[in-house]
Amino acid sequence: MALTSTRFTDQKAPCGQTVDAEHFQDQDEECLVSDEWFYACGCRVIHHEYHDGTVSCRVTRHDGKVLTDELEAEHEHHS
Ligand SMILES: [Zn+2]
Repeated sequence: MALTSTRFTDQKAPCGQTVDAEHFQDQDEECLVSDEWFYACGCRVIHHEYHDGTVSCRVTRHDGKVLTDELEAEHEHHS
């Protein structure tokens, strides 16, 4: 398990403001890749990749409105 946190300045948040942001990258047994952006205004972008190839992306604006909530399966399962 590895958690990496990096701070950025002058990032464009989903709401359009330019703010500071913090980027987290995490890996665990459930998620192959966990890629999360937390903006100073409160916006969040969360991107997860799972071992089966499924990719989820959720963009939440600082007022709580969900702008994007996607779940994509890259590979079809034939069983
Ligand atoms: Zn915002």
